[in-house]
Amino acid sequence: MIRTQPINVMASLRQLMVQHTAGARLDAQQARNFAALNGRQRLNHILLTALMALVLFNLFLVSDRYMVPDVFEFAVAVRLYVLTPFVLTLVLIGCLYREWWVSSMPPWFTDFVAMIGTMAVAASLGAVMLASHSDQLPIYRGGLVPVMVFGNLVQRLRFRFAVCSSLFILGVYVFTLWAHSDRPAVYQVIEIPQGLLLLLVAIYTLVSNFNLELDERHSFLQKERAQALREELEKSNQNLEDMSRRDTLTGLANRRQFDAYMAARLNDGGVGRRLAVMLIDVDHFKAFNDRYGHPAGDQCLRLVAGALMAAMEGHEGLVARWGGEEFAVVLPDGEVDICLKLADAMRAGVDGLAMRHEVSTCSDHVTVSIGVAVAWIYAAPQAVDSLLNKADQALYRAKAEGRNRSVLASGALN
Ligand code: GH3
Ligand code: MG
Ligand code: MG
Repeated sequence: MIRTQPINVMASLRQLMVQHTAGARLDAQQARNFAALNGRQRLNHILLTALMALVLFNLFLVSDRYMVPDVFEFAVAVRLYVLTPFVLTLVLIGCLYREWWVSSMPPWFTDFVAMIGTMAVAASLGAVMLASHSDQLPIYRGGLVPVMVFGNLVQRLRFRFAVCSSLFILGVYVFTLWAHSDRPAVYQVIEIPQGLLLLLVAIYTLVSNFNLELDERHSFLQKERAQALREELEKSNQNLEDMSRRDTLTGLANRRQFDAYMAARLNDGGVGRRLAVMLIDVDHFKAFNDRYGHPAGDQCLRLVAGALMAAMEGHEGLVARWGGEEFAVVLPDGEVDICLKLADAMRAGVDGLAMRHEVSTCSDHVTVSIGVAVAWIYAAPQAVDSLLNKADQALYRAKAEGRNRSVLASGALN
């Protein structure tokens, strides 16, 4: 026996709706961003379209003249003395206090006010219809169609407000029909199809309104995703840039950053100023590696780097891993006395680590030798190269004189 499953129309429709709106749902934060992003633009749009509609609305006094001549004066009063000042006041408030409106009012407020405006127009037409006994009334009621189109498609009220205003306009139509139910039945020839037409317009314009809002949300979400991707890309670029400038073993600046730092100092008015460089080399490091192993050597380099950074605290400049077991320090405007004091502090810091080094000839623990050079920089880059050479020669002398010491390059300036 074939078992047929009942078709659940509602569930199918719901699924259709879910698929149709997929990818356009906003979470609470996104909804706030969406409203905030469009707030000013939306208010401008509403104000401009309201002014345009007001002009067109008053133009319809011409049709009032012909279609509801019995209440023409009332129509003039409603259009010109009630509705026009009402809408103009709202538009004026929106124009004069735009910033306050956008920043202080909840996002739905603009649409709410616009909806009230649309409803007021429909109500004013309803009032004229109720007052009139003209034979043209069944046709005059068709004036509600452009009001609905205006709210749903021109002002593009947010969907829920569009639904409310459409229902209100349909209500006005039905109410005026009901109020005139004592009229001859011949009018029904127009009134019933016209009512259906208004219903049709309501449905079609609401569907369009819904889809327009859906499109707006889609494009907002796409922009938001693109922005998030851009930010992620920037962050990972920044990370890469950071990584390319850091020494992976010690976390200090690497040679690349050292060179960039030097170049930046020189471009930044460094020419004509004093510059100090220190080259720092771990004593008998090859022997340390051979005695304790390469991983211990790596750990030693990390600790030495930490000690140098700690000593550098409070000084403007850069500590970098120059390569292997050598480090370099730059001090812009470094004075000789300060450099020598800092060099001593750095050696004391490494001493303080008290890392055993049984095979060193100059101490029983890890030590460093430091070459210091200070010069006035008049011509870059030759002056920088010669400064580094001087520091290197001073380091060589420190090694030659027994290591575990700092030596100031000869010819250095105070
Ligand atoms: P000196 O006192 O004259 O400076 O002697 P030294 O042994 O320290 O100098 P040398 O240039 O002969 O040896 C440097 C050693 O540093 C050789 C190399 O294996 C070691 N080295 C360089 N880079 C690293 C590193 O990243 N990790 C470890 N563990 N060792 C390194
Ligand atoms: Mg070396
Ligand atoms: Mg060494």
